[in-house]
Amino acid sequence: MLQQTRAAVVVPYFERWMTLFPDIFGLAAAPVEAVIKAWEGLGYYSRARNLHIAARQIVERFKGELPAAKEKLEQLKGLGPYTVGAILSFGFHQRAAAVDGNVLRVLSRYFAIEENVSKIAVRKKIEEKAEELLDSKEPWVTAEAFIELGATVCTMRPRCEDCPLQGECLALQTGKQEYLPIKDSPMAVTHLHRIVLVIVAEEHVLVRKGAVGKVMADLYEFPYYAKGAKVPQLGSPWPKVEHTFTRFKAHLYPYLASMERRWPIPGCEWVRCSELLHLPFSSGHRKIARTVCELCT
Ligand code: SF4
Repeated sequence: MLQQTRAAVVVPYFERWMTLFPDIFGLAAAPVEAVIKAWEGLGYYSRARNLHIAARQIVERFKGELPAAKEKLEQLKGLGPYTVGAILSFGFHQRAAAVDGNVLRVLSRYFAIEENVSKIAVRKKIEEKAEELLDSKEPWVTAEAFIELGATVCTMRPRCEDCPLQGECLALQTGKQEYLPIKDSPMAVTHLHRIVLVIVAEEHVLVRKGAVGKVMADLYEFPYYAKGAKVPQLGSPWPKVEHTFTRFKAHLYPYLASMERRWPIPGCEWVRCSELLHLPFSSGHRKIARTVCELCT
């Protein structure tokens, strides 16, 4: 069910993405703003930026061909051990393990590894064990089987009675299947409360672009301040908007204010209301931008 829901979300993005950037050369040549805009709504924008950089690296270093060698793939921006393994295994049918969170869970249980799988050394050990288990003729079939087993049977609450590995699984034999894998506890969610200023003048709205290196780099937002900070005179309040990103939950309290003229404001730019939605926005600010556009039309 979860996979179907994910597919329903991702497939339209994928189709749109392929229309905008039909090949690696198109993606490499596109401005980063267009790439971020196409990614809008998926979150984790560093992935879009990395993909864009990797496309440029592939064009510049490998003449537009995705390399089939591990050490070359590892040079590409944003490609970690799982992605490199998955490309080699599923893309080039090489003997390579693709160890994602599902596979870490399956193998840490199968071998009853009572060490923290968040540690790189433990992860590497599991990758080596995964590689040893791959079929000699069709290693990609085993690699896919591990991923599927983790996604469907050896889940957080494992269904060991349906598992094809139940005869050899050490965690099951020792009753540790629910206790493993051991990993770092998740980081606590930080709540951010922000006053957002929607300032309108001469059919334009004031926005600013996230600085390079920040979580919201290349995404546009309305000027905001931490709730409680001293801010210029506020206008009429709009309903609160919430959005979640990485480990943060933002609570946005928008206020509409108007100015007679488009005075220059350092770090900000005036954008025509009708062009607002052509810009890439972070998801909470995009909800506000839609309301702005509805008001302007
Ligand atoms: S027997 Fe249970 S714990 Fe072991 S791999 Fe299968 S589902 Fe996971």
